[in-house]
Amino acid sequence: MIGLTVLGSGSQGNALVLHNNEESVLIDAGFSFRELRRRLKQADIEEEALRAVVVSHEHTDHVKGLDVLKRHWDLPIYCSRLTGETLRQRGSDLGELNIFTPGAGFNVGSFHVNAFTIPHDAIDPVGFAVQSKGMKVGIATDLGHASQLVSYHLSNSDILVLESNHDMELLQASKRPWSVKQRIMSRHGHLSNNASMSLLQETLHERTQHVLFAHASQDCNRYDLIEKSMTGFLEDLGRSDVGLKVARQEAGLDTVWAESDA
Ligand SMILES: [Zn+2]
Ligand SMILES: [Zn+2]
Repeated sequence: MIGLTVLGSGSQGNALVLHNNEESVLIDAGFSFRELRRRLKQADIEEEALRAVVVSHEHTDHVKGLDVLKRHWDLPIYCSRLTGETLRQRGSDLGELNIFTPGAGFNVGSFHVNAFTIPHDAIDPVGFAVQSKGMKVGIATDLGHASQLVSYHLSNSDILVLESNHDMELLQASKRPWSVKQRIMSRHGHLSNNASMSLLQETLHERTQHVLFAHASQDCNRYDLIEKSMTGFLEDLGRSDVGLKVARQEAGLDTVWAESDA
């Protein structure tokens, strides 16, 4: 079985934890170390169960707590070469990094991770397809559009984590400067609710048990709007059996588990 805990998600901070029945891996550390520990505790996750931190890209909302975490826990940090170089140039003292190559798989404890390139305005951003004991979690947040490569890597997932960043109308109506709106809407920005729906339709598989929508904007989206439209969409697809959750910024979600019926 494979499990996933969203500790929080949005432009102010992102962190997820993957679990199997032996160990856990942290994906991104976008909260302060103190806040991260608080959220882990709240989610009943033992710090000792964490084997590594895997970093998706260098934006602050994904790496905020990384330096302090490294000083306290000395966990191995996995990232791409360019992401690592960028963090170092910024003054991060992360010691020796475990470098992965987007497109090539690597093992972290008993998890097999495939990092794949996503279209986003960072140096070398990636999404993750993680497998453990025949079960798979697919994660794609922070992407401007869903390329074929993205759908390919997310296919056959038991648990899907998809970005659902903004509602087009709320974004247009927001007080954000035009340049910021442009950036968010661009092909290297963030995924809208509608684009997320299309990606869901493309990647939803008969084995998919849970879908989590993440990285929702606080002023250009609403959690209840995502929940309502996605619930309706799954009903239309005849897939009301799929568990649906919307990740929050201010607090974590309960862990979801996918189990094989074999
Ligand atoms: Zn980002
Ligand atoms: Zn982000």
